[in-house]
Amino acid sequence: MPTRDQLLRAPKVLLHDHLDGGLRAETVIELAKQCGYQGLPTTEPVALAQWFASDVPRRDLVRYLEGFTHTVAVMQTKDALERVATECVEDLAADGVVYAEVRFAPELHTEGGLELETVVTSVLSGFEAGMAAAAANRSPIVVRALLTAMRTAARSLEIAELAVAFRDAGVCGFDVAGAEAGYPPTRHLDAFQLIQRENFHATLHAGEAFGLPSIWEALQWCNAERLGHGVRIVDDITVATNGEVALGRLASYVRDRRVPLEMCPTSNVHTGAVRSLKEHPIELLRRLRFRVTLNTDNRLMSDVTMSKEMGSLCEVFGWGFADLEWLTLNAMKSAFCPFDKRLALIDSVIKPRYAQLTAESLRTSHAP
Ligand SMILES: [Zn+2]
Repeated sequence: MPTRDQLLRAPKVLLHDHLDGGLRAETVIELAKQCGYQGLPTTEPVALAQWFASDVPRRDLVRYLEGFTHTVAVMQTKDALERVATECVEDLAADGVVYAEVRFAPELHTEGGLELETVVTSVLSGFEAGMAAAAANRSPIVVRALLTAMRTAARSLEIAELAVAFRDAGVCGFDVAGAEAGYPPTRHLDAFQLIQRENFHATLHAGEAFGLPSIWEALQWCNAERLGHGVRIVDDITVATNGEVALGRLASYVRDRRVPLEMCPTSNVHTGAVRSLKEHPIELLRRLRFRVTLNTDNRLMSDVTMSKEMGSLCEVFGWGFADLEWLTLNAMKSAFCPFDKRLALIDSVIKPRYAQLTAESLRTSHAP
């Protein structure tokens, strides 16, 4: 079992993290003061952090999404967006993340009169500032943005165009998020077709609270390269009492094509998609060698970091460095940044640092 310190030092790759789900509680409070937002349930940082993570007994996606009303309310100015983005990068770097794709929905940040473009440039300049600070702190990190369109709204084509417009300025792809039931991804076909025509990248929240049809549409109609969560793919897998496993056609496709699954186990427990970490299909999918990646989703709402998430899974499933390295390599291979950059991070950062950690843990386990 890796120690906490080793988990912190392990290099991590994060593909699924929401900017408006990862604020520091103190920052939410300070920004609320600055913009005159009165809606926070409390203005005491520890209590507020607990409030955000307190939906666990309810385990419902709709309630979980309520927390975002507060974070989004305080992210309506250039300065607020830049600050949140900078702190996000600093927090990820401090957690040992070496590459991250952080997503946000520009259309949610125009309440205060900001243009969509300004929302994007503010976040990107925050990312730049955070990366510079992390590099100066000797924990370099590469952070790229994914632009999310809300599946319940009708602005996806505009957001896809925006993502393409900023592709050389720090945006690496497009995503669609929000309540799944009743809002199939095929409502946003024109946006996904634009992404395809532009040779750009798309991931899609699918198969989180909703089943196989959502995953099938994401892959076969929207050409999503990765699945946000994708956890319901287990509905197409049967495990017999003798342990024999049979994959349906869709599950076979996902595994054969190495479709990356952006899995967020703790978040899935909090939203009610899965009952407990122990029952989370990530272990079965890992054993079956699907292209599994490990992610935080919403660090504030789920009170998680990558290190914590790795630690919990090591504890629950008995994983070790070999598993963590495999997940990290899967994520790096599935990133939307160019192939040569992915290879460079794999060869010069991820593999050597896991080799070092593995050697270190072998030494300790053989110590008298
Ligand atoms: Zn998500």
